[in-house]
Amino acid sequence: MPEIFRAARVAPMTPGRPLLEDGAVVCDGDTSGVARTILAVGPYAQLCREFSGPVRDLGDVVLAPAVFNSHTHLEMAHLAGKVTSGQGFLAWVRSLTSQPLYAPDEGRIQLELARLEARGTGFVADISTRNAPAMAALLARSGHFHASFQEAIGTVVPEDIGSLIHQLPDSACASGRGTLSAAGHALYSTSGPLMRAAKQAASARNLPFSLHLAEHADEDAILLTGKSAFLDLLRERGYLLEYDAPGKRPVPQAAALGLLDERTLAVHCVTVTDEDMDLLAQSRASVCLCPRSNEYIGVGQAPVGALLVRGVNLCLGTDGLCSVADMDVYGELAWLKAHALPELSLVDGLALITSNPARFFCLEQHLGSLAPGRQARFSVVPPELAAMFLG
Ligand SMILES: [Zn+2]
Repeated sequence: MPEIFRAARVAPMTPGRPLLEDGAVVCDGDTSGVARTILAVGPYAQLCREFSGPVRDLGDVVLAPAVFNSHTHLEMAHLAGKVTSGQGFLAWVRSLTSQPLYAPDEGRIQLELARLEARGTGFVADISTRNAPAMAALLARSGHFHASFQEAIGTVVPEDIGSLIHQLPDSACASGRGTLSAAGHALYSTSGPLMRAAKQAASARNLPFSLHLAEHADEDAILLTGKSAFLDLLRERGYLLEYDAPGKRPVPQAAALGLLDERTLAVHCVTVTDEDMDLLAQSRASVCLCPRSNEYIGVGQAPVGALLVRGVNLCLGTDGLCSVADMDVYGELAWLKAHALPELSLVDGLALITSNPARFFCLEQHLGSLAPGRQARFSVVPPELAAMFLG
């Protein structure tokens, strides 16, 4: 028998459909939880005439699709609260690299994923330098849809570039909810040839690609001039000894390497100029903003309004727990509303964590909107956030 979820407001997140007052979502009766689908979305008064079944009245809340966290680093969850904040990228990296980086705490990660599930996260994009298959297995077990990325770093390009994408564990394959692809770290820490190879490996399998791009001023300085305190630190530690600055800003350099297209997610984009943003828009790459991480590290903020005006497909991610207090992407939306875009509407804000990432990750048939045939996965907009938008 179908089940009817009623809420004071429902955000379908389908094109042209506004918030529904006293709305309802009807789900099929399969209570196994895995494959429940949506049968109908509309005004409660209409749907309760068309369907009979138990009604779960959620009360004075906004019911929205399950949300996407489009960028995090699960393998660093054990560093929560242990890394310097607010003093810029160099101080943050010094603090980060003085600790064991790639020793994931599986228990902590499972706990975090369970918290996300409970708060309505339906999808996680995870970047892992050393443990991508293990993180994919944890994500598969958690029930989330996911895109797991094996991060290429350094200069060594393997003969078989397909080896840059590790095998998705059987459990994740069996769930049908996950992919494992390649990512690059950043344009200074992953050489041009290795970046290009990682992008080609992803493109060959029609998989998404991701890289950190234009995150901080040191990145600009390293690429433009080959001179920065951060580069000195890396060299002290034996990295980038042969680094040759391309003399370009990060976005034009990414474009020159052929990294920017509609299957690429450029993460951060804080230090972008008008010309950089024009280039991003022309390339049809998507951009993932992580405003709380940028604030924690102290690198400035992306020009979110200017990116939106250019029609860039914007998503939000939390980044890892080494630079943010929690992995709930509703926190990113609250930050944007409070500090960057007071005029942002609730529907336009929800797009950044529902329909936009669903489009980028090619999951629109399953997630990202409330419509017949989609999976019955929901979130409730946190009441304090709903109040910021709706007064
Ligand atoms: Zn990151």
